[in-house]
Amino acid sequence: MITEVTSVEDKILVTRSSMPDMDEYMDEIRSIWDLRWLTNMGPKHEEFKKELTKYLGVDNVELLVNGHLALEMTMQAMGLKGDVITTPFTFVSTTHAIVRCGLNPVFCDIDPWDYTINADKLESVLTRDTCAVMPVHVYGNICNIEAIDDFAKKHGLKVIYDAAHTFGETYKGKGIGSFGDASCFSFHATKVFHTIEGGCVCYRDDSLKDALYAVKDFGFNDPEDAGYIGGNAKMNEFCAAMGLCNLRHVDDDIAKRRVVYERYNERLDGIKGIGLNDPQADVKSNYAYYPVVFDPGIFGADRDTVLEKLNENGIMARRYFYPATNAMSCYKGMFDPDETPVAKMMSERVLTLPIYPDLDTVTVDRICDVIIGLSKE
Ligand SMILES: *Cc1c(COP(=O)(O)O)cnc(C)c1O
Repeated sequence: MITEVTSVEDKILVTRSSMPDMDEYMDEIRSIWDLRWLTNMGPKHEEFKKELTKYLGVDNVELLVNGHLALEMTMQAMGLKGDVITTPFTFVSTTHAIVRCGLNPVFCDIDPWDYTINADKLESVLTRDTCAVMPVHVYGNICNIEAIDDFAKKHGLKVIYDAAHTFGETYKGKGIGSFGDASCFSFHATKVFHTIEGGCVCYRDDSLKDALYAVKDFGFNDPEDAGYIGGNAKMNEFCAAMGLCNLRHVDDDIAKRRVVYERYNERLDGIKGIGLNDPQADVKSNYAYYPVVFDPGIFGADRDTVLEKLNENGIMARRYFYPATNAMSCYKGMFDPDETPVAKMMSERVLTLPIYPDLDTVTVDRICDVIIGLSKE
């Protein structure tokens, strides 16, 4: 079979990386040539860390090479052992990070309204070996922070949020990274804010600082001696420079995303069998994703049919997240996806539609026309 090759320009992708003006980036990286300090916590790294701490409204930030290693390095620095309660309705990175740290993920089902961990079910998945909870703020929806906090306090557990989807958000006026013991962000090119590749962990307890700093740098806590079995997860100067540039524009980007988001709402709200994402009280959103849930019986077409039709029209919506992580082939026989039925159902019904700052209204309308055209009404 010959597959038709279409250039990226012809297609509407689910996301498109924000870029600063090339000149702005060039100005930012000029000093790297003068200094020849390319990585290992140079001046750009330090400046970006300072700016980011302010922007996120948190006490402590450690920069890392990506969001995935932010999760792994945080768990290692905390010295966790045993079971970690989490959800399978996430990017596979969350589950992989737990397993790769030698910990055992215990899956709790999600809430069908906001896709985050169902706090009412936490007690039912607690084991004698539970050491931590790793909830995920999904699509920019935040978890039930108060209930998770109470549960963790009651049982003496650490809370590490996978906050990869919530850059720039606040809850009750506080930076989203300031909740729990730690929150990990991703600065991957596809996210609301990026450093090409990158990530960070925001953490509460100052005493975590030395361990985190060491584990991301081969475990060195002394110029020659390694006190930890660390890895290498340092952010380099070029990525930090990209972060400094993009941080100047991220609020504008979020405002533009909001326009796209609201246009989708206008067009799709009220169509039978389509579930939209409800705004949450006390949350300043970043409009990171536009998830749509199709109830095939009521809407008239199932999620995969909608996706196929969109693809035929050059629109690259995404089955995100599908499959649930506990149904991925590498975990076959280890976990049972039927134990988290809501996550399983959502993974079979949800589609995330294209959203990025400069997606124009004409295109949003075209996407909506394709979807509405499949409706039974
Ligand atoms: C993007 C993402 C990650 C991984 O971040 P990288 O920077 O790509 O390593 C982890 N968890 C979630 C929920 C994500 O969306």
